[in-house]
Amino acid sequence: MSRTPETPARAELHAFLARYQRFLLTTHINPDGDAIGSEVAFARFLRAMGKTVRVLNDSPTPHAFGWLAADVPVEVYTEELAETCFSEADALIVLDTGNKQRIGRLADHLSRHAIAIAIVDHHATHDGFGKVNVIEPSCAAAAVLVYELMHEAGVPIDAMAADALYVGLATDTGHFRYSNTDARALRMAADLVGIGVDVAAVTARVHQTAPAGRLRFFGEALAALEMRHGGQLVVLEVSPEQFAKHGLMGADTEGLVDMPRVIEGVEAVALFSEVEPGKVKVSLRSTGRVGIDGVCSRWGGGGHVHAAGVQMRGSREQAKAKIIPDLERLLSELPPAPVVAGRGARA
Ligand code: AMP
Ligand code: MN
Ligand code: MN
Repeated sequence: MSRTPETPARAELHAFLARYQRFLLTTHINPDGDAIGSEVAFARFLRAMGKTVRVLNDSPTPHAFGWLAADVPVEVYTEELAETCFSEADALIVLDTGNKQRIGRLADHLSRHAIAIAIVDHHATHDGFGKVNVIEPSCAAAAVLVYELMHEAGVPIDAMAADALYVGLATDTGHFRYSNTDARALRMAADLVGIGVDVAAVTARVHQTAPAGRLRFFGEALAALEMRHGGQLVVLEVSPEQFAKHGLMGADTEGLVDMPRVIEGVEAVALFSEVEPGKVKVSLRSTGRVGIDGVCSRWGGGGHVHAAGVQMRGSREQAKAKIIPDLERLLSELPPAPVVAGRGARA
């Protein structure tokens, strides 16, 4: 059964879905679990409404999420393929980003095709380039929005959509450990488990896919971690030589920046990942007390309050010289950490 859309923008999106027949879906470059999960679930949603749908991304689907695309092909950009997809579609739906430049090479095709655009996203920083923009930073994942939109439309969530939504929700909340984990996220997880999601099996599929070289690479990076600002800030870096030595690519740093969160007293983590010489991907994380998205948006990046990123040109040293002083300033402004029973009182 359908229910009343929660916001006017959601109502506009339902009207948008009703208006068009042939949909193209996309997401951000270097897609994560929420990006792929939201696309796959949205594709099932559209198909259930009798629409035709194709999914086209700038970057390849990481191996960990390939199984989600078994029934809904997730295609990878070539100029010819993009031209075909854009000319055959009436409407484009962009998931898990509201930033035109983050859809990568697909952005070049927007000016050539009069295609209607809708955005379904949960990022705080966005340029809302859609005709319809459903952008709700209060959602832990884009998958939360997709799930609620399916309920509003009265479209049942099948087993494949449930797995896809679970992957989106679980990966964006760090498996329900990060500060975006709220009652809504946990209720949604419970509902998905009720539909049939096998948590252990899905988690294993997503997290037991790393080659041994990735752990050696993590080991090298972690062995060299630097503690700054009295132990509140962890700085990690990886060089182009390390990527080459282990035969890895940019997406293989996934999860690395989250590991130092386990160090007692850490408020923020910064990873400077130089995939190719002169191209540094900065990833920032906060353990909850400090908002770090502004540090990235200042340099053209963005993200969420507690997880953000930015691409920078130049050396790792140059990127560090731009980012670290801002982080240290934010940390200096923090009030003393509350004393947690059993924690922090080390003699
Ligand atoms: P990452 O560090 O790549 O895991 O990204 C953390 C968060 O920041 C995610 O929500 C990303 O969507 C966002 N993000 C990462 N890089 C960028 C960027 N260059 N521009 C805008 N948002 C970004
Ligand atoms: Mn994402
Ligand atoms: Mn997301």
